[in-house]
Amino acid sequence: MSNIMEYQMFIDGQWTPGLTGERMEVINPATGEVVATVPRGGREDVDRALASARASFESGVWAGKSIEERAQVLINAAMMVVANKERLAYLESLTSGATIRRTTTVDIAEVAGTLLLIAMIVKELPQVEHTFFSPPWVAPMHSFWKREPIGVCAGITPWNFPLILAMYKIAPALAMGNSIVMKPASITPVTTLELAKILTDAGVPPGVINVVTGPGSSMGNYLAGHPEVDKIAFTGSTEVGRQIAHQAADTIKRVTLELGGKSPIIVLDDADMEVAANMCLLGFLFHSGQVCESGTRLFVPRCLQEELVDRMIQKIKKMVIGNQLDMETDMGPIASQEQLNTIIRYVQIGKEEGAELAYGGRRLTEGIYEKGFFFEPTIFINCHNQMTQVREEIFGPVQCVIPYDDVDEAIAMANDSIYGLGGGICSTNVGRAQQLANRLRTGTVWINTWHVLRPDAPFGGYKQSGYGRECCYHSLLAYSEVKHICQDLTPDGSDKLLNLLIGLNR
Ligand code: NAD
Repeated sequence: MSNIMEYQMFIDGQWTPGLTGERMEVINPATGEVVATVPRGGREDVDRALASARASFESGVWAGKSIEERAQVLINAAMMVVANKERLAYLESLTSGATIRRTTTVDIAEVAGTLLLIAMIVKELPQVEHTFFSPPWVAPMHSFWKREPIGVCAGITPWNFPLILAMYKIAPALAMGNSIVMKPASITPVTTLELAKILTDAGVPPGVINVVTGPGSSMGNYLAGHPEVDKIAFTGSTEVGRQIAHQAADTIKRVTLELGGKSPIIVLDDADMEVAANMCLLGFLFHSGQVCESGTRLFVPRCLQEELVDRMIQKIKKMVIGNQLDMETDMGPIASQEQLNTIIRYVQIGKEEGAELAYGGRRLTEGIYEKGFFFEPTIFINCHNQMTQVREEIFGPVQCVIPYDDVDEAIAMANDSIYGLGGGICSTNVGRAQQLANRLRTGTVWINTWHVLRPDAPFGGYKQSGYGRECCYHSLLAYSEVKHICQDLTPDGSDKLLNLLIGLNR
């Protein structure tokens, strides 16, 4: 009997087969084996999902509920995420290559935590604000402005953190009363489908959350340009984000874009070298480097390069690289053959452009690695800021070390990038580190740490890393419109105003 799981799309509160009848395979990147299939959807499936989202929105079945009622459903969902944590974490690891040690702890906590935090802060966000002030030339008036949902949202997510990135969109969209259609990445659709079912079981009405599965280039593209979509929330590459911004312009969709990065770490001359080594490894090896805000440009004082890199290599040698489902594994496989090919290509470019390979640089192919997509942690030294592998996002476990002589020069090089997602300073001097953090043109700066994202702190990019912020109350603002309602409180106010402005009724 086959162990391959068969999923359907999730539309209008139901598991729904795709209209094309075609299927896509989902692969375990540690073994290359097919573990699940999902429908390879087409345009008609997007139309169906959007029709369901629109109908649910217009009916007021969700948008018409009170904030407290909606928040309670999100809290129920958080409890159900925790209750299902083994299954969700297993599926997330199986399909994305994330280590099970991480998904059972960090990912589940982040998903449930986002639901709980959004449920809490949506109740505190002012939904209505009043004023009775009137300029002297008009009659007394009551003005108030209120927050309303935008309508039908589309969420498009990448393959690196399917659960967390889906929830960063779903939780604020639902909290503000929107309906949403999600399109997860083709290679990791399974846990977004599971989330939709959990939310529905927790009390989200049919049609308010829908998940369609299919290729980004056809189905995602169609969804992004669809006139029924009022707001699009996209996380993915800068290249696709740019296309989406163009498409959104036709119908003036609201847009938030979380895009690529090439984040700089600046180690200062006063840094503790042990802290620096840990921070730098965390920066580029977490999830095999497949993280948008990975620290992959490492600026280090020229005289400290050798010592720092030696420390990093000694630590790398102790890491367990292996099957992501093993609790002992520190670093799992690359998520797909395609991404592995990209990494191999960039490492080759690095060598050709004259970067010195200090460690790694090879695909792992022996023994347990034979059928999977594994790549060694890789460190290039003596790089400069104009090299291709330093400027472009690789999305793999590859660190480029760039020696510097002067800290102003390091800041200038750090900011010399089309990206502006993450950045970091390593120093023992708190004041100096904070001053330099102010000079980095990035949406997040970590000091002596990396990758700490929190549901209560805004996350997003400067420059071509995107616009808008996810998490905390910033995300609630991004999923709502503001309406001003102005009421004349006197019987003759309109007469007076007409007279004043147009001169009739004199
Ligand atoms: P991608 O841009 O190729 O795909 C992202 C999503 O868009 C997928 O669901 C894909 O199917 C869909 N898609 C592809 N082409 C499309 C199109 N023409 N129209 C509409 N949708 C389309 O990115 P990826 O390879 O899945 O993920 C890696 C990228 O995501 C990296 O660049 C990484 O930096 C970025 N990322 C950014 C963040 C962030 O928060 N800033 C987080 C994670 C990943």
